[in-house]
Amino acid sequence: MAYRNFFASVSGKRRGRRVAPPRFRSRKDNRQAVRFTANARFRVLDNGRLRLPKIGDLRVRWSRELPAPPSSVTIVRDAAGRYFASFVVQAPDASLPAVEPEVGIDLGLTHFAVLSDGTKIAAPKFLRRAARKLRRLQQALSRKQRGSQNRRKAVVKVARAHARVADTRRDFHHKLSTRIIRDNQAVFVEDLAVAGLARTRLAKSVYDAGWTSFTAMLGYKAARHGRVFGRVDRWFPSTRRCSTCGVIGEKLSLNVRSWTCPCGTVHDRDVNAAVNILAAGRADRPTPVEPVSVSGRPEQSAAKQEPTGSAA
Ligand SMILES: [Zn+2]
Repeated sequence: MAYRNFFASVSGKRRGRRVAPPRFRSRKDNRQAVRFTANARFRVLDNGRLRLPKIGDLRVRWSRELPAPPSSVTIVRDAAGRYFASFVVQAPDASLPAVEPEVGIDLGLTHFAVLSDGTKIAAPKFLRRAARKLRRLQQALSRKQRGSQNRRKAVVKVARAHARVADTRRDFHHKLSTRIIRDNQAVFVEDLAVAGLARTRLAKSVYDAGWTSFTAMLGYKAARHGRVFGRVDRWFPSTRRCSTCGVIGEKLSLNVRSWTCPCGTVHDRDVNAAVNILAAGRADRPTPVEPVSVSGRPEQSAAKQEPTGSAA
C-alpha cells in the first residue's frame, strides 16, 4: 500500500530513502483515499496527534473539536496535494427551541440570496476575489504547451486555487445555512430549474454560486434540528406576481430591480420573489399526520460505498 510506505516515511518509521507520496492514479480524478475503522485501532492522542496503525503519529491541524469519539477516519489526498483526515462521528440530533419566523429565499444572480424579510446576502468579497484568481490561473494554464513542465506546474496551481475556492464557498454556505436554520422555524426555497438556466449564458454564474449544495445543507440541517424545509415549484411567476394583491405584472427584464404594482405597492424585485416563495411554501406545506404503520420491507438506506482508494 503506497500510503503506508509514504506515511511510514514521513513519520520516520521506515528506514532508507524518503518515499515519495503516492502518485496520481487517474488523470481525471486525482484524489486518493484510505479509510481506517475503529477495528483498525486508530486513536486521537491527548496531544492532538492522530495515531494510525502501522503508520505512526501524525500531526493534525484540527478544523474543530470532535464532538464524540470517531468511529472511523478517512485520509484523503486531494488534487492540490494536501492531506485531509475526515472523521465519522455519531452526533445525536439536537432539536433547536422553536422560533416564530418563517422565511422564503430567492437565490439570485445580483445577490447570493435574498430573504423574504428583506435581508440581502451577497457572496463574500474574498470568495469573488478567489474565483477571479482561479479564472486567471485557468487562462494561464490553457496557454501552456501540452506535456511541458510548465503545464504540470500550472495544473497544480489551478488545483490549489480551485480547492481554496471550494473550501471558502463551503464555509460560507455552512455559516449562512446554520444561521438561517437557527433563526427560522420554516425555510422555503425555489426548486431550482438549474438544468433550464444552464442552457443560457447564465450557466457559469449558476454553477459558481453553488446553490445546489447550499440548499442541500439547508435541508439536512432543518431535518437535524426539527425545522421545516420545503422546495417550491417554480411554475408560478415568483418575480412578477405582486405579493400584496396577487396580480401578475408584466414580464421584467433582468435589469429591472424594482417595480410598482397597480395596487400601489412598490416592490424590490428579489424581496417580492422571496415573499412569494414563502407564501407558496406555506400553502403546500404538508399537514402533520399521525405516523401510520405500513407493512412491507423497510426502505434501504442509501449507504454509499466508501472509496477505498489504494487500500488493498
Ligand atoms: Zn399589487
